[in-house]
Amino acid sequence: MKKKPKIEILRHSLSHVLASAVYEMFPEAKFGMGPAIENGFYYDFNLPRTLIPEDLEILEEKMRRIIAANLKFERADITFMEAEKDFKKAKQPYKVELIKDIKKENSKIKTVTVYRTGNFVDLCSGPHLESTGEINPASFKLTKISGAYWKGNEKNKMLQRIYGVAFESPKELRQYLAMMQEAEKRDHKKLGRELDLFSFHEESQGSAFWHPKGMAVWNEIENFGKGLRKKYGFLEIQTPILAKDSLWKISGHWDHYKDSMFHFETEKETYCLKPMDCPFNIKIYQTKLRSYRDLPIRYTEIGRIMRNEKSGELNGLFRARYLTQDDSHIFCLPEQVEKEISVLLKMIKEYYPTFGIEPKFFLSTRPDDFMGKRSEWDLAEKNLANALKVEKIKYKEKEKDGAFYGPKIDIDIKDALGRNWQLATIQLDFQMPQRFKLEYIDKGGQKRIPVMIHAAIFGSFERFIGILTEHYRGSFPLWLSPVQVEIIPVSEKFGKYSTEVQQKLSAENIRVTMKDAGESLGKRIREAQQEKVNYMLIVGEKEMKAKTVAVRDRDKGNLGTMKFEKFLEKIRKEIEDKK
Ligand SMILES: [Zn+2]
Ligand SMILES: [Zn+2]
Repeated sequence: MKKKPKIEILRHSLSHVLASAVYEMFPEAKFGMGPAIENGFYYDFNLPRTLIPEDLEILEEKMRRIIAANLKFERADITFMEAEKDFKKAKQPYKVELIKDIKKENSKIKTVTVYRTGNFVDLCSGPHLESTGEINPASFKLTKISGAYWKGNEKNKMLQRIYGVAFESPKELRQYLAMMQEAEKRDHKKLGRELDLFSFHEESQGSAFWHPKGMAVWNEIENFGKGLRKKYGFLEIQTPILAKDSLWKISGHWDHYKDSMFHFETEKETYCLKPMDCPFNIKIYQTKLRSYRDLPIRYTEIGRIMRNEKSGELNGLFRARYLTQDDSHIFCLPEQVEKEISVLLKMIKEYYPTFGIEPKFFLSTRPDDFMGKRSEWDLAEKNLANALKVEKIKYKEKEKDGAFYGPKIDIDIKDALGRNWQLATIQLDFQMPQRFKLEYIDKGGQKRIPVMIHAAIFGSFERFIGILTEHYRGSFPLWLSPVQVEIIPVSEKFGKYSTEVQQKLSAENIRVTMKDAGESLGKRIREAQQEKVNYMLIVGEKEMKAKTVAVRDRDKGNLGTMKFEKFLEKIRKEIEDKK
């Protein structure tokens, strides 16, 4: 078993301290589970009343007293019978259930481990800190209360979950809390509403509704991605959204992924909404007998897929049921793998910096339960590593983290808040070509199996636009911006000239709107600023006569008056340079 990192032990130990504080406050509390999680910990309780935010302060205070008392985490191994008796007597039904679960899972185990901190005894295998005094009382905070079903199953009772965050030092905690506060301001669901980009509706949970302004962002990203793929020799295809279960049985999705697929019956057949595009791309490959001379074949598809995510786990654009992937599949000869990976890496290197995002690369290697031959894997891993070297890309290795059907390169990004996101994956696949009996004819006239490479650059439009919205805090760069220019006439007298300017910009495919002179000038400028329009053009008497515009930049403020033609040239160039 892997040794747990110290921070994880600290976080888990704090969950015991929290449970201990809850026990003090509610002696009749029933205890669920309390693991360490990313950035902190939680504990689930069944309590005599619903918690209110003020309770968190009281509990934190109690926790600090427990820490100050420097209580030991005392371990004891007791028999199942003893444990069951003790927890029954203490009226802890969830712990009794867990004891039975342990016994069911492994009948050979004779004892269970319990830990005591002060008066509180918990069923837990550890590890924990030596004593509560090791915790810095200023480096944790209880953050929220939510409902959580016992064991995550909606058929079970709803418990109350208390979340906390914890770090090794108070400084890290302060930084984390500041980051979270900033993240809340940047929440894409909130910005999406305010900027009129997209919305979500109860009738179609997990699927975004894209408004005209959101589509402007979407289309720019789509065109940019399509342009890059064209440059690197990809051919665009489009495939259906449904297929019979027979296809998913061959691909393996029916056996391994059925719970995440939407399926239904019609004309006595079972159909599934596609959760991935791969089998459909394969069908196109199979429409012809392919020769080694035809390879590589590089397909790209804007793939519209559906995954049956639990409604409770949906999270705006970050976790959706309806996804649109920027998908690619390459079919190639084994000796072409390295070059094809190089092509994909080149594309990725060209892609992300356009958004001011630095990609980080990871090579995931053979897991223990790998499929195929060891020699195939060794070669494939070498191909991936070589391609990374050829492209002069620094990378880290994630040992044994490859999928069972092939090694992969993962690409993570860090957004403006320092959060990491895994976006792109370049996945080598030995399995699908075999399952679908893919072939090509080699030089000697023999039938061989091609290699398949799956690659998405940013994953899904939904998630990527969600990330970008938060990364930019809604202030999209000019080329992506839903409204690039807003014309603000000083008064109605200049309506005609304003319309003329608007039409000229519009004819150049610049996204431009005009604010009528109904409201005061100051108010209209403030509104345009809130709408995060990149340029405001203010036109009055002087501007109309001289055929100029007074330019106001969203970020830099007034840029002064310039000839309209000069502004047009400036904005054209900036859009072209993807500024
Ligand atoms: Zn524990
Ligand atoms: Zn695929």
